[in-house]
Amino acid sequence: MKKILIVFGTRPEIIKLAPLIDELKNVTDLTTLHTGQHKELAEPLFGLFNFVPDIDLKIMKESQDLFDLTTKLLPRLKAAMIDIKPDYVIVQGDTTSSYLAALSAFFLQIPVLHVEAGLRSHSIYEPFPEELNRRQISGIASVHFAATQLNKQNLMREGVNEDRILVTGNTVVDALYSLLNLPQDNNAAMNKLMEQTSKGRTALITVHRRENHGQPFLNILKAVEQLLELYPDLKVLMPVHPNPNVQNALHEYELRNSRFITIFPVRYDQFIRLIQHSNFILTDSGGIQEESAALGKKVFVLRNKTERQELLDSGLGELTGTDTEQIVNRVTEFLNSDQKTSKNRIYGDGTAAQKIRNFILDQL
Ligand code: UDP
Repeated sequence: MKKILIVFGTRPEIIKLAPLIDELKNVTDLTTLHTGQHKELAEPLFGLFNFVPDIDLKIMKESQDLFDLTTKLLPRLKAAMIDIKPDYVIVQGDTTSSYLAALSAFFLQIPVLHVEAGLRSHSIYEPFPEELNRRQISGIASVHFAATQLNKQNLMREGVNEDRILVTGNTVVDALYSLLNLPQDNNAAMNKLMEQTSKGRTALITVHRRENHGQPFLNILKAVEQLLELYPDLKVLMPVHPNPNVQNALHEYELRNSRFITIFPVRYDQFIRLIQHSNFILTDSGGIQEESAALGKKVFVLRNKTERQELLDSGLGELTGTDTEQIVNRVTEFLNSDQKTSKNRIYGDGTAAQKIRNFILDQL
């Protein structure tokens, strides 16, 4: 059996790797390693996806910066990899955990397989530090599992050999589909939220990116306030990311409107329910753009640059940036039109993890 180490550290990585862990657990000698970059956002997911990481490096600390994270994580990843001696290391996406795991594997000359390879905004600071992280991982990886043809083209433009790239779709769609068929849990807080937003229109908003901390976030809140004033039937639901910068901005702006409802982050299955329940989404998150597409929801992307051009081309996504007027204008245009949206398979059909598994078993 191939010995595989799969590394993750944040909520999106766990969501996107859970389907692959499921596919690989019985057919490879698999070790799962959680760096602990996210703690409280990550833990509910293990119960949901039914696995416990074999190793937890527990590196989460309040307000640690990228220097702290790097200097703490590298020696621990080195020790774990020397101990496990995997044949392959799998990393996902573009977090600092993924990049440092890929770098550690490279230093130890262990081949790296990269899931969700080839996303590019072509702007080194947006998203920060993810654009650099993913470029670096592409330089290291020996196999690149790209979610879309566009991602494959990005890699080939950088000189990656075509036979090292497999287009699979995004594993987030697998994760999403696996939960859609589960019976809904009867959670009192969720039921109350559904009740509160049962009449009129609902928008779901999330903001957490580093480049939106400070003034951009305040501009976004101002746009939300104006939209609530313009549309008396609108309710805006915001699961608030635990990042202190996000919390501080909310505190500073004091958006006092009873139709602006802030909640703690919810477990993934509940969040999917909220997307389904909403009329449109405002977000700077990557994963939520893909999920919105799979569920056929209009999504306004609160970023200046995108690495998900497919979403804009499909008409489901609009890049609004963080300018208040621009956000209000684009959302207003949508709300005043009778634009119909429908489910889209640009990010895959729910078989990405299966394709990756087959490649690993048959081609490596
Ligand atoms: N998510 C969640 N609960 C929430 C908010 C988001 O489970 O309250 C999920 C969401 O569905 C998506 C992922 O978290 O799959 C996105 O994580 P994040 O926005 O932190 O990262 P990004 O996608 O930008 O890398």
